[in-house]
Amino acid sequence: MSFRIGQGYDAHRLTEGRPLVLGGEVIPYDRGLEGFSDADVLLHALGDALLGAAGLGDLGSHFPPGDAQWKDADSCDLLREILFQVGDAGYRVVNCDLTLIAEAPKIAPYSSSIRRRLADLMETDIDAVGLKATTNETLGWIGRGEGMAAIAVVLLQGK
Ligand code: MG
Repeated sequence: MSFRIGQGYDAHRLTEGRPLVLGGEVIPYDRGLEGFSDADVLLHALGDALLGAAGLGDLGSHFPPGDAQWKDADSCDLLREILFQVGDAGYRVVNCDLTLIAEAPKIAPYSSSIRRRLADLMETDIDAVGLKATTNETLGWIGRGEGMAAIAVVLLQGK
């Protein structure tokens, strides 16, 4: 039985006039994340972790910024495509663990539905999806509310 671990990191700038999309959920906030797709920082970190674990490259190589096909794309669609390729390479997801680093807003009210959505996408139990959030204690660019970052780790098992 083979296991593969992967990690991913992503960061996006906050800007006015965009919806804030985290884990496929539109979260009420005065700004959203800037990016070519919906800039879902959580799903981008998770996608890179999945690709890394399976040895399939990275998000940028699969979904190049500037490719009109992915303009304002729902990152759940990117994740579906990644999961298809991970499955095709012979792996299934055992579990993942995500950390959002942001000064605001609180995502606790949305945590269950984000975890449910990701569990459905990855075909795991909800307890196989960890989701945590931390502030940056007002330090640096995250602390000043200029953007958000996310870290993901994932474990794959050979089918
Ligand atoms: Mg990104």
